[in-house]
Amino acid sequence: MIIVMRPNYEEEDLVRIVQRLEDMNLRAHISKGEHRTIVGAIGDERILAEIPMESFPGVERVFPILKPYKLVSREFKPENTVVNVDGFEIGGPQIQIIAGPCAVESREVLEEIAEAIVPAGVHFLRGGAFKPRTSPYAFQGWGEKGLKYLAGVREKTGLKVVTELMDPRDIVLVCKYADIVQIGTRNMQNFRLLTEVGNIDKPVILKRGLCATIKEFLMSAEYIMAQGNEKVILCERGIRTFESETRNTLDISAVPLLKQLTHLPVIVDPSHAVGRADLVTAVSKAAVAAGADGLLVEVHVRPEEAMSDGPQSLRPEVFLSMVQQCRRVAEAVDRFI
Ligand code: PEP
Ligand code: MN
Repeated sequence: MIIVMRPNYEEEDLVRIVQRLEDMNLRAHISKGEHRTIVGAIGDERILAEIPMESFPGVERVFPILKPYKLVSREFKPENTVVNVDGFEIGGPQIQIIAGPCAVESREVLEEIAEAIVPAGVHFLRGGAFKPRTSPYAFQGWGEKGLKYLAGVREKTGLKVVTELMDPRDIVLVCKYADIVQIGTRNMQNFRLLTEVGNIDKPVILKRGLCATIKEFLMSAEYIMAQGNEKVILCERGIRTFESETRNTLDISAVPLLKQLTHLPVIVDPSHAVGRADLVTAVSKAAVAAGADGLLVEVHVRPEEAMSDGPQSLRPEVFLSMVQQCRRVAEAVDRFI
């Protein structure tokens, strides 16, 4: 249920409403916007239906949230959420680019990659220290050693660190080094993991599951927000279809659709969507044109030597050109990179 307060409500009106909801074992989520204060009453719809909230002083209107996801919905919070990572905003007018290798390899290679992406004006470095690999015999990532390399590069370059968390047992470790915690496609419905990252005070990039519908994707974001972490960034990274020329199929319509349904920032990972470097630039431009708030791109100085996802990794010069081209598209949609 959404309770819209009158513009001139008194603070005690709000206190009374929150108290009433809590007495009924419901959660009150207060959102104070520029013009309006909205209280989201979260809990069992049947209990909610019994409380005549419209008769409380200070209340203007009451209406149900019809969608199964509540905190993530635009109905609940009409204005865009902007996630601030040490002064760099995701979800504001600037489109943020997060770039780097699929996996953290050696300290030297990571430094080379970081130095190669800085001239493009990016502020975020990606790299997996825990890698979800299809084969148990494939490189699984360096774990803490990889996280240390990422932190070392942050120290040198100022780049913020984005890295994947696969297991709740590693949450303290990953949070020690990451500026943004990434939940990968295979874990989008790992509800225990989602609940855990809901309790941390770090932004989370939640990637869409391989076969997840938009509704399922948003329900997973709801899991994180329901615990109190509001810094959720959604990432469309391609879904599985019958097409085999590309690794996945980028659902470009997901971008404007998600922007309609939710207030959360939406970014696109063109690399895992297509799985081949030659298509990444075109798809990135399409994502920017469609309204993406950011791009998550795999870059490697020597893709032929990459320990994972070499074929989809851009060489630095191609990456720089991609960013240039995306800048022009961004301008056309009144954004900037
Ligand atoms: C990644 O970004 O490193 C990754 C493994 O992506 P996904 O979870 O989308 O496959
Ligand atoms: Mn990868």
